[in-house]
Amino acid sequence: MQEQHPDVSYIINHLGEDHAAYFNAIAPPIIQTSNFNFDTVAEMRKALEDEMGGYLYSRGLNPTVDILRKKLAALDGAEDALVFNNGAAAVFSGVMANVQSGDHILSVHHPYTWTAHLFDKILSRFGISVTYANGADTAGFLSHIKLNTRLIYLESPNSWWLDLQDLEAIAKVAREKGIVTMIDNTFCTPLYQRPGDFGIDIAMQTATKYISGHSDTLGGVLTGSHAMMRKIFLSEYLCAGNGIQPFNAWLLLRGLRTLPSRLDRITSTTQSVLNYLKTVDRVESLIFPFDPDFPQYALAKKQMKGACGLISFYMRTDNVATIEQFCNSLKAFRMAVSWGGHESLVIPKCVGMPAGDFQPDEPNHRLIRLYIGLEDAEFLISDLANAFKGISPL
Ligand SMILES: *Cc1c(COP(=O)(O)O)cnc(C)c1O
Repeated sequence: MQEQHPDVSYIINHLGEDHAAYFNAIAPPIIQTSNFNFDTVAEMRKALEDEMGGYLYSRGLNPTVDILRKKLAALDGAEDALVFNNGAAAVFSGVMANVQSGDHILSVHHPYTWTAHLFDKILSRFGISVTYANGADTAGFLSHIKLNTRLIYLESPNSWWLDLQDLEAIAKVAREKGIVTMIDNTFCTPLYQRPGDFGIDIAMQTATKYISGHSDTLGGVLTGSHAMMRKIFLSEYLCAGNGIQPFNAWLLLRGLRTLPSRLDRITSTTQSVLNYLKTVDRVESLIFPFDPDFPQYALAKKQMKGACGLISFYMRTDNVATIEQFCNSLKAFRMAVSWGGHESLVIPKCVGMPAGDFQPDEPNHRLIRLYIGLEDAEFLISDLANAFKGISPL
């Protein structure tokens, strides 16, 4: 079991809740309203003067969303948070708020698909350039900083190869140069990594994954300073209208209650599955940050309090049929995108390309990602063992 920050129980179960304001109900109400009325012109004028100062219209602030906002900020040890309709919306707003025409972004290799799309297909239309570099080599990565670099974009670990970046070292250099740092912290959640503690300016996480935990809503989060959140709120958040809706915020509050126990459970099950996979001939090598064989194990131990859920492995095979048969025959593991819910998942990298393009010498074509959910370890391991048994022995 990972050691929790002492305030985590308070934050998740108490912070931001005012039961007396809603009939002493334990569960907070879903304030399903588009707008809020005023008794006087003076009060309405005040609300219009600063939309972040109170309730005016639910494209801005909403009381149900605010409970979640306070908890998510506190879990990250940040001054403030904004909650978005999904993770991609959070990335979009956090990035857009911090770049303008002529700027340069330094990003890690292989960021999330729609983050890369934003950089390559959208921002390029506005004269914003991006350099992708290997974040595992800190000095090499930082050597790509240019005079017009305004944003450094990190994802540590990322969601296929689980590559890390040294957050403290990168944030230090970025601060000295006045460059904003942003990280996609979806893999860890604030319970397993608090980017602000290392000097990162904006932490993003996809609430669709572990915060929800039930595969029934999308959500995205940004945390950071009041000033940064205010800048994003008064511009991109209000303008794109991509904030979360009250009901979805309520589902995320519900998910958040059990986040620590779900992560504990998934952490221990992940370890059992990992131990099993290490005994399988067909598994050429494994990728998991808290595996002592992981190349960045020391860094993982330094900046992450835990690791769980995603395990990638290279299948030993010379043909795509073996991979397809293995994935097709899994029953406990469902084949799907996303992760972070109760249900275990599998996705082979080769699903993203025509089967005829498969090249056995290209290790990434033989990469398979598992997500470990809330099922029993034995249930999952026996499913994996059956699927391995179904493919012909080496
Ligand atoms: C899922 C995911 C996102 C996008 O989140 P959505 O809620 O699907 O928009 C971004 N980054 C990572 C690492 C993810 O896994």
